[in-house]
Amino acid sequence: MIFENTKTAFSIKKNSDLLKSKFIYKILSSPSLSKLGTSLIKFAIKIRFPIKRIVKTTLFNHFCAGENHKESLRTVRKLGDNNIFSVLDYSVEGGSKEESFEKFLSKKMKTIDFSNKNEYMPFVVFKPSCFGRSLLFMKLSNGDILLDKEKDEWEKVKNRFETVISHAINSKVKVMVDAEESWTQKIIDYLMEYLMKKYNQKEAWVFTTLQMYRKDRLSYLEKLIRKCKKENFKLGIKLVRGAYLEAENLRAQKMNYTSPICVNKSETDKNFDAAISIILKNLKKILLFIGTHNERSINSIIYWMRQNKIPKNHPNIWFAQLFGMGDHITFNLAKRKFRAVKYIPFGPFQEVLPYLIRRAEENSSVDSNSKRELELINAEIERRRVN
Ligand SMILES: Cc1cc2nc3c(=O)[nH]c(=O)nc-3n(C[C@H](O)[C@H](O)[C@H](O)COP(=O)(O)OP(=O)(O)OC[C@H]3O[C@@H](n4cnc5c(N)ncnc54)[C@H](O)[C@@H]3O)c2cc1C
Repeated sequence: MIFENTKTAFSIKKNSDLLKSKFIYKILSSPSLSKLGTSLIKFAIKIRFPIKRIVKTTLFNHFCAGENHKESLRTVRKLGDNNIFSVLDYSVEGGSKEESFEKFLSKKMKTIDFSNKNEYMPFVVFKPSCFGRSLLFMKLSNGDILLDKEKDEWEKVKNRFETVISHAINSKVKVMVDAEESWTQKIIDYLMEYLMKKYNQKEAWVFTTLQMYRKDRLSYLEKLIRKCKKENFKLGIKLVRGAYLEAENLRAQKMNYTSPICVNKSETDKNFDAAISIILKNLKKILLFIGTHNERSINSIIYWMRQNKIPKNHPNIWFAQLFGMGDHITFNLAKRKFRAVKYIPFGPFQEVLPYLIRRAEENSSVDSNSKRELELINAEIERRRVN
């Protein structure tokens, strides 16, 4: 029942903030209103209609901490005061040109410097596609022969990964690498295994991401555990269900191969639960960073920790939710001294718009948690009214 405590969940929200959140979730929990809203935003962008003010005071402020580090710091501090860690995520879509990868690299280096100054920012994160072309990852994952210039390109990508990781480790910050589409992942797995072996000798500094909606990820996790035991290094695992369900199934259908994704949600859940159980049994070798808004999944870990007398703030178990979502989980976990984290998107308004639209679309899907969010916000408004 710990997630029902709305007083804790919304403790940093003023009444006016709560009303804004209510407005946003009211729209998001209605698929037709939400579709209309996102279509209007897309249209306004196309005809260059000035929408900054309205989107900034609503969607942007709800799902992003600011346009730059300085603006985001206020949020980081407020969360830190509530025992919540922050992972700043420069949420700008990766381009396809070398200069955009270099620009992203320099941003990431600055985020590491910024994180290093704040005890509540122990991690940084990046998407592989921010450091290299997805098509290149796909070619490598397929085992295709590279052209000479692509070989140079791949060397540059690997250097960017290593530059970020070594700078982060020197700054005592851990690095997580997101997982994207399955057709680009094989080469990322290979690279991440190499990097974890190289940098995680004594402590897990580098984290790979496992998307448990993939049918093959449980056996891959078992393989990784065997490898880290045999070759003597630690695993950093960010565990998620997976965000590219539609794109994965659509591509498989179009290209006539069996989808790598579980056939339904309950198969994904089974896979996710099984992965948690394997990881918890190997906690000495693994640092688990679990990214989910699923209360049942988190409750099952809490139950296991209690049964096995594992302290709440065990350094190898971290729970994370996205900024603007799941406050009832993050704040209530933090209050009980679990290691609770917010993934905090930030970036220049124009450049984070695609992220915001994606958030709006995902939150308005039928199986999203928007109704639950709205219910909790309403409960808190009512609680404040009668008190
Ligand atoms: C901190 C954090 C970091 C994240 N990092 C990444 C990342 O690096 N890469 C990434 O891909 N995602 C990432 N995600 C998103 C994550 O993968 C999920 O999409 C999202 O969190 C919703 O899953 P859930 O466990 O929170 O909730 P739930 O509502 O329990 O699960 C929803 C998920 O179940 C799965 N699912 C739903 N319907 C079906 C179906 N019919 N068949 C099979 N599976 C189904 C999908 O994965 C869907 O996203 C991250 C999420 C968080 C909170």
